[in-house]
Amino acid sequence: MIPDTFGRPLRNLRVSVTDRCNLRCQYCMPEEEYVWLPREDILTFEETRELVDIFTELGVDKVRLTGGEPLLRRNVETLVRLLAENPRVTDLAMTTNGVLLAEQARALYDAGLHRVTVSLDTLKPERFRALTRRDSHGKVLEGVDAVGRAGFKGLKIDTVVMRGVNDDEVVDLIEYGKRVKAEVRFIEYMDVGGATQWSMDQVFSRADILGVLGEYYGRIEPIVEESSAPADRYALPDGAVFGIVASTTAPFCSQCDRSRLTADGMWYLCLYALKGIDLRKPLREKASREEIKALIVPGWQARRDRGAEERLKLRDRRVLVQVGALKADPHLEMHTRGG
Ligand code: SAM
Ligand code: SF4
Ligand code: SF4
Repeated sequence: MIPDTFGRPLRNLRVSVTDRCNLRCQYCMPEEEYVWLPREDILTFEETRELVDIFTELGVDKVRLTGGEPLLRRNVETLVRLLAENPRVTDLAMTTNGVLLAEQARALYDAGLHRVTVSLDTLKPERFRALTRRDSHGKVLEGVDAVGRAGFKGLKIDTVVMRGVNDDEVVDLIEYGKRVKAEVRFIEYMDVGGATQWSMDQVFSRADILGVLGEYYGRIEPIVEESSAPADRYALPDGAVFGIVASTTAPFCSQCDRSRLTADGMWYLCLYALKGIDLRKPLREKASREEIKALIVPGWQARRDRGAEERLKLRDRRVLVQVGALKADPHLEMHTRGG
């Protein structure tokens, strides 16, 4: 186990496979125009596999494919197959907006993907269109239905809750989760790069969510568990379980074992980190595994990041990165580093 400055292990790697997306979620990609990563910089599947292999030799055992929208990456199931061959990867998951899931779920399952998380913020098609500037709500619901049919267990649905936008749907989403056999996780709206419209008054907090659910369902029991997962989990009186990721009002930085690899091979030690470590360059210059490890290990050992906790201390909390800076370095965007 490689500990960082606060003893947090290097364990959990989120791998963004593309910075492109087929939705334009208000809290992630609100602008009209984006600067994309140069095509020639995007890692091939073999290059991604090589880096993931190196990370797993250093202790990573959980890998999550993300993006942008991971299902936009052509033949992504081929990458899944390559990563699933690595016995050190004990948890291989994907976070997707679900739009292309109905057509790909089976191939992903057959390729060896273990788990799927679908991001879904509303059950109302009109609201979906307003939130994402696209008309694909029906396709997302079909995608959710396809997950179980393909053979996956442990479906999760992630919902970013925004005050005055979809906070009136938390009960409906729990009920939907019961119907489709998914655990719903409510995520607080975060002031990450990309969220250029963020403001604290739009954050619907864990306390707010528990308040609404408690009023409707009655007693809600917290589930006590030892875990580095960001979600606090709770049980309803009927036994249904849901989670809350209170990343804005009660961040979990002290337990955070996750880092992020962008589609062009930059490694970020925190969602809020302004600088990353370039692993593509040494990889393409044919550095040996040991040489690449010699970049990763001291990088992690020196990690002091507690981005969300530091944001919490700010008195006048505004948008993290202004649009101009995002355009100058798209690596600062949430859709580039994978959420
Ligand atoms: N496109 C895929 C999707 O939406 O599931 C994967 C990438 S997306 C960046 C990963 C997650 O980040 C999504 O669940 C999304 O809701 C979340 N996210 C993006 N911006 C956010 C923000 N400002 N606050 C909280 N969560 C955010
Ligand atoms: Fe929405 Fe995910 Fe696309 Fe961001 S990357 S705009 S969260 S679907
Ligand atoms: Fe981890 Fe950074 Fe998020 Fe804190 S803000 S939980 S350190 S990624």
